[in-house]
Amino acid sequence: MTTEELLKWDRTHLWHPYTSTVHPQQTYPVASAKGCVITLEDGRELIDGMSSWWCAIHGYSHPTLTRAIKDQTEQLAHIMFGGFTHRPAVELGQLLVDQILPEGIDRLFYSDSGSVSVEVALKMAIQYQLARGRAGHTHFATISRGYHGDTWHAMSVCDPITSMHSLFYGTLPVQYFAPQPACAFGDEWDPEDLRPMQELVERHQDHLAGIIVEPIVQGAGGMYFYHPKYLEGLRALCDEYDLLLIFDEIATGFGRTGELLATYFTSIKPDILTIGKAMTGGYMTLACTATTQEIADTICSGEAGCFMHGPTFMANPMACAVSKASIELLLSQDWRGKVSNIENQLQEGLSPLQELSDVREVRCLGAIGVVEMREPVDMEQLIPRFLEEGIWVRPFGRLVYLEPQFMAITDEQLDSLIGGLSRVLRACYR
Ligand SMILES: *Cc1c(COP(=O)(O)O)cnc(C)c1O
Repeated sequence: MTTEELLKWDRTHLWHPYTSTVHPQQTYPVASAKGCVITLEDGRELIDGMSSWWCAIHGYSHPTLTRAIKDQTEQLAHIMFGGFTHRPAVELGQLLVDQILPEGIDRLFYSDSGSVSVEVALKMAIQYQLARGRAGHTHFATISRGYHGDTWHAMSVCDPITSMHSLFYGTLPVQYFAPQPACAFGDEWDPEDLRPMQELVERHQDHLAGIIVEPIVQGAGGMYFYHPKYLEGLRALCDEYDLLLIFDEIATGFGRTGELLATYFTSIKPDILTIGKAMTGGYMTLACTATTQEIADTICSGEAGCFMHGPTFMANPMACAVSKASIELLLSQDWRGKVSNIENQLQEGLSPLQELSDVREVRCLGAIGVVEMREPVDMEQLIPRFLEEGIWVRPFGRLVYLEPQFMAITDEQLDSLIGGLSRVLRACYR
């Protein structure tokens, strides 16, 4: 099959994320990827600025991760988790409990994608309230411009304007939205920022099971960084009204922000925490919903007698093995130093773009650099230009951003990403 034939078949039969079959977007056939370089079938090489949506961190095809998954495949590729357990699941769990998760968040439920781990978190909260005789407590409060995944309940807590609420109106559970926090990360804290959420919770307290947010970094809903004090305020609210606090750390987990979890920017802990994306270093899909023993035991003392969920591929051994290898590799190196260098380089390199009048704001946190434009950008115009610069950057809406693989990218590669991105924006905007 030639590359042209491959592309034609793809256009005719395959669906890509959020795309139209009537007006297909251009796709580029990848032949291989190593480190931070993606090689296309025509031989072009691109420096990766996207980490395949937050999930790759050590570079593509890392020998240690490849070895871990190969070895596990030969031993045990998959086995049902009902009635069986295995070393990869237990050893990964130990690593998560001992080294990654906040103390006391030590009961783990594995699942196969971020969206499912969010569904699991929401179901846990509802079952928890139910078990305590609070049957009407089935809804959630959240903040605008969040993103929690594409499945049913996860979708219902995504931003109500930019997401799929209007399309699925009437069939989606109705949730309660407070405005996005106004105090940005690094700003001075203003306690007034919490007032809309306070009022919302007070008004709907009889229906709420919990509050769900992405802590500190709102990812796909707007790449916005907000104040840690807001989260401490949510903790107090949840305690006052007897609600569960759920942190969705699927995008922020495993060092991306400069902390192992964004939770660690605060002095508090959530009741339920979800992780995914970078959990396997970008090798396989795997996620986890973690909670306290007390919440888990309460759920299981309720009428159902158990937690009502069980994915077929729960705790897949290959995914657990590569996840363990990825986390060990992360913790064995100076990840904090690497992320901090990248943050400085992004800040220094992207800030000059603030001169452009079409740029609304440049902001960086950890290994995330965001150029927010005043108007939505034309992806079909920008991406081919990025390719000419030899970089892989995929903007969405008003956001042009870099999210490099922080454990693998070199200073020179990051310079090329920043330089290429800046040249393209300066050529296309004023
Ligand atoms: C990506 C993401 C999800 C969904 O994860 P999938 O693996 O795509 O289902 C949920 N929450 C956050 C914060 C995410 O970034």
